[in-house]
Amino acid sequence: MRTADIRQRWLDYFESKDHAIVPSTSLVSPDPSILFTIAGMVPFIPYILGTEPAPWPRAASVQKCIRTGDIENVGRTTRHGTFFQMNGNFSFGDYFKTGAIDMAWELLTTDQGQGGYGFDGDRLWVTLWDEDTESYDALTQGIGLDPKHIVRLPRQENFWDTGQPGPAGPCAEWHYDRGPAYGPDAVGGNVDPGGDRYLEIWNLVFDQFVRGEGTGKDYPLLGELERKAIDTGAGLERIAFLLQGKENMFEIDETYPVIERVEQLTGKKYGAEAEDDVRMRVIADHVRSGLMVIGDGVRPSNEGRGYVLRRILRRAVRSMRLLGYDAEALPELLPVSKDAMKASYPELETGFAKIAEVAYGEEEAFRRTLSAGTTILDVAVAKAKKSGVQTLGGAEAFALHDTYGFPIDLTLEMAAEQGVAVDEQAFRSLMAEQKQRARADALAKKTGHADLRAYESIVSALSAPVEFLGYTDLDSAV
Ligand code: ATP
Ligand code: MG
Ligand code: MG
Ligand code: MG
Repeated sequence: MRTADIRQRWLDYFESKDHAIVPSTSLVSPDPSILFTIAGMVPFIPYILGTEPAPWPRAASVQKCIRTGDIENVGRTTRHGTFFQMNGNFSFGDYFKTGAIDMAWELLTTDQGQGGYGFDGDRLWVTLWDEDTESYDALTQGIGLDPKHIVRLPRQENFWDTGQPGPAGPCAEWHYDRGPAYGPDAVGGNVDPGGDRYLEIWNLVFDQFVRGEGTGKDYPLLGELERKAIDTGAGLERIAFLLQGKENMFEIDETYPVIERVEQLTGKKYGAEAEDDVRMRVIADHVRSGLMVIGDGVRPSNEGRGYVLRRILRRAVRSMRLLGYDAEALPELLPVSKDAMKASYPELETGFAKIAEVAYGEEEAFRRTLSAGTTILDVAVAKAKKSGVQTLGGAEAFALHDTYGFPIDLTLEMAAEQGVAVDEQAFRSLMAEQKQRARADALAKKTGHADLRAYESIVSALSAPVEFLGYTDLDSAV
């Protein structure tokens, strides 16, 4: 099944279950406390918290998401993209645990010929909060899931809250067992929700309790909410790579064509060398993220969203160079990504001229940066050689980074080509100092926005660390 069809099937299924189909909101978060939309629930926060009446009792969506906090994992795990699509179904005071569990099971396991995804139910595992007997019963007695496939976890591991008194509740997370080739068996143990064997595909969040004061997950549950809510999120790309029989989310129909184009351009074969493979997956991910983020109106800049976009595009270009391709890369790759995405997002086709202009302009600017920095680097390297130390100082590397946006791995590699090492430790401590300054600034800013605390906590509870932590986080990834 094409990813676009898996997406549509989600919407069709929940429409058949009387859900209002709500179009994806922009990647530019409608919630001002976060830069990007990081989960399907973001546009529904007021209905989930009950601060506004919901326009419908049930809703479903496929939400475009960006999680910059996952950038270090991109291309290295099977399952983390910076851009991805989160399928979701929501109940605002309507069905609750049993309804959500029954529908999840039905959609996952019904044959593809009958409108489902056709997963083998014997390979599904669920993590539950250990006190959630209602979900346990719905899974075992209701749908007949093998109790061995249920892992009961303490509140610390499997509980949602907003970080302050108010709504809170347990999660039930569905995992797909990819088999012993991907890791040890979990029977009687933990399904290792961080792993690639028991792949987390779908998180059901049960907004059930009113919680009191406390830190972390240590707070009293004061009672049940009058109006309970369901908020779920399932990674479309994760479902797609499993259904398409691929090894990871970068090999699906929406991203693999970019990898194939990279192979053609660089002459390298995907699957031949592990680090090159990571670079190819990073390129496939970042080109797509760039496309989607520009499509939602973001423009490269030196702050906020624009900076995230800038770093993502530049990292894609850099990765191409590290694969040995020095010519302009985005004009070769962006159209391929657009063609792979337009089945679900036809507006990419109509808006492509503008998107391309922005992306290619950014690559040009980066190429200028590179050539300016390269001259400075060459001079510094020559100096180091002349002085006999054969090591480029941390201060020079830091200046290149700070003034010319010259990434450290480029400095390392280009210095090495000329037989010169870099005092990386000194560079890192200068970076750490800068990071500390950025954090202090961010903190100062945050305290001026106390009214946004609730949303910030929701965001961090959902998936730490997804919030934007300043430029330095992305820097360390470049
Ligand atoms: P993981 O533990 O694998 O990082 P998560 O627990 O952070 O995932 P949730 O916050 O529960 O993820 O989001 C709901 C669903 O969205 C996940 O079950 C997964 O299918 C999908 N998802 C989350 N992050 C990503 C990502 N970076 N790329 C692709 N899919 C994702
Ligand atoms: Mg998880
Ligand atoms: Mg999760
Ligand atoms: Mg995560």
